[in-house]
Amino acid sequence: MIKLKVENLSVSYGAINAVRGVSFEVNEGEIVALIGANGAGKTTILRTITGLERAKGGSIFFEGKEIIRQKAYITAQKGIAHVPEGRRIFTELSVYDNLMMAAQRRKEGVKESLENVYDIFPRLKERRTQPAGTLSGGEQQMLAVGRALMTTSSLVLLDEPSMGLAPIVVNEIFAVIRRINEQGRTVLLVEQNAQMALATAHRAYVLETGKVTKSGDAKKLLADPSIKEAYLGC
Ligand code: ATP
Repeated sequence: MIKLKVENLSVSYGAINAVRGVSFEVNEGEIVALIGANGAGKTTILRTITGLERAKGGSIFFEGKEIIRQKAYITAQKGIAHVPEGRRIFTELSVYDNLMMAAQRRKEGVKESLENVYDIFPRLKERRTQPAGTLSGGEQQMLAVGRALMTTSSLVLLDEPSMGLAPIVVNEIFAVIRRINEQGRTVLLVEQNAQMALATAHRAYVLETGKVTKSGDAKKLLADPSIKEAYLGC
């Protein structure tokens, strides 16, 4: 089943055409990566899917239903969790309160979800009473992902989960992405770290200045000489 289908999407900020006719799809159960340089339009695409930016044209279908003009809170209710760039956690609140806030609309299964998050991120369990703002960058990223796991979402959008993190923490984050995918969530990942994104994803799309220039099996893209040269530094 196609979980998410983006068709001919365009988004502008005034005179800047940030996204120019982008089409891609994410099948249920997949990890799909959007890779590309700074300013390619990756963040804008995720924000438009979630309803935080207005599209100029095109369509976005989630589970077969058009969602392009849907408000962000409805998109969240319908099952899309967005882990934004820069994490956006509540710094004054404890780790536990951040997690519970993400589950506040749920009536059932909250305890099980919390146990699952603590199982995936033992560090968050250890630090559950600590104000979230005092966590390290990597721990804050874990908390942001943990918040997505406290919802009943079936599709998780991750915006640059590896940004600013030490290599060992980057490895941990990508291992977690695989694990949440194995638990049944579909993942759409935006990354500048093309190496890790392609090694983790099933399929990927390469974006350049608002357009898809290449797409396919992630492992094949990882071996593609033009991708290696442009995005993998080799
Ligand atoms: P990065 O990896 O650097 O975050 P990106 O691929 O996510 O880049 P976007 O953040 O989507 O790229 O930006 C795409 C283009 O749109 C850029 O040229 C950016 O300057 C522009 N842009 C993004 N947000 C705004 C905004 N709120 N107002 C004006 N221009 C914007």
